[in-house]
Amino acid sequence: HPSKRVSGITAQGKDGWEVHFAAMQRKLAGEEILMLSIGDHDFDTPEGTVEAAVDAVRSGYHHYIQLPGLPRLRSALAKLSTEATGIDTLEQEVIVTQGGQGALFAACQATLDAGDHAIIVSPYYATYPGTIRAASASFTEIAAEAERDFEPDPDKIASAIQPETRMILINSPNNPTGAVYSRKTLEAISELCIEHDLWLVSDEVYWTINTPGSHLSPRSLPGMKERTLVINSLSKSHGMTGWRVGWLTGPSEMIRALISLNLVSSYGLADFVSRAAAIAVEEKHGVSQIAERYAKRRRVFLDEIAGLNGIVQRGVDGGMYVMLDISAIEPDCEAFAWGLLNDENVAIMPGTSFGASAEGHVRISMCQDDEILREAALRLRRYILQRS
Ligand code: PLP
Repeated sequence: HPSKRVSGITAQGKDGWEVHFAAMQRKLAGEEILMLSIGDHDFDTPEGTVEAAVDAVRSGYHHYIQLPGLPRLRSALAKLSTEATGIDTLEQEVIVTQGGQGALFAACQATLDAGDHAIIVSPYYATYPGTIRAASASFTEIAAEAERDFEPDPDKIASAIQPETRMILINSPNNPTGAVYSRKTLEAISELCIEHDLWLVSDEVYWTINTPGSHLSPRSLPGMKERTLVINSLSKSHGMTGWRVGWLTGPSEMIRALISLNLVSSYGLADFVSRAAAIAVEEKHGVSQIAERYAKRRRVFLDEIAGLNGIVQRGVDGGMYVMLDISAIEPDCEAFAWGLLNDENVAIMPGTSFGASAEGHVRISMCQDDEILREAALRLRRYILQRS
């Protein structure tokens, strides 16, 4: 048998991913399905980054690299972190990981011991519960209500704090809701962390896919630099999901400790990938184009469904997704998603895949071009009109 820790990682409760897997199978079997279920770009990595990787492979960059990350990449990421968080970041405050997920794994391992407790905000990115369980810790879900545009209520977070609580995990811009937390919310959460001596793990992987200039990292708030771990990644911002480059920013003692975690978990990233990633960051390949593309897609999709009775759209200030309240049409969001797949060949995610608090909602990924999004909106409109 696998260890209890490993078998405990698997998500419990409802599994909305079934809709996505069924859609994939039908697509592979040749059916024409509009896939608006997952968060991977429909376009390839920008050419400049691809060329940098090919050059690196041809130039003999085939070897082990340093565990905190290739120095050139680490230095480029420190500069980028300074930009992302608005607070000066040194190279020693950055460690390179296998994607944002690797950074998340490192952050949970670094802040939680067996028996410790964390607080997460629901709806959440689907791997959060498993990543906390992999650290043998428990967690409480705080519902960020649709009525509050999916911003968490700091008083609710406060009431979930226990003697065993070590960390609060937040994500803004948010997957799945698209919510971007206000300064007031981030300040209140930060104050709780200071008052109760907690770590704040801030997942900011969508920071560029946001209104330009508006990203606010809690790392920049007073007293937070020493207790915030920022999760980041080139997957979304630089169009590099399959390259697996992420990083964690935090106090240098924490980063030093995490070098040994890299040693025993990944032994670092690929040499040529790291070189190409450094160039992608230095030259900002694709960043503004990708951000503009998603902003336009959200507009295209939301314009197409505007005025449709029975659905409510909230949040959606950033990120790559649109969250819709479909409860007036169908209170069971899984049934809604299955129906849309079966009747209209459109794959979306039931809200409950991201936590029970998203019942009555569906997440629609903007990872398709404008024409597909228009067609999907048309089919969604038809599906809803038939039911209202
Ligand atoms: N955090 C959030 C909120 C995400 O949506 C994702 C990916 O979808 C990740 C982390 C993981 O990022 P990566 O693909 O770089 O591992």
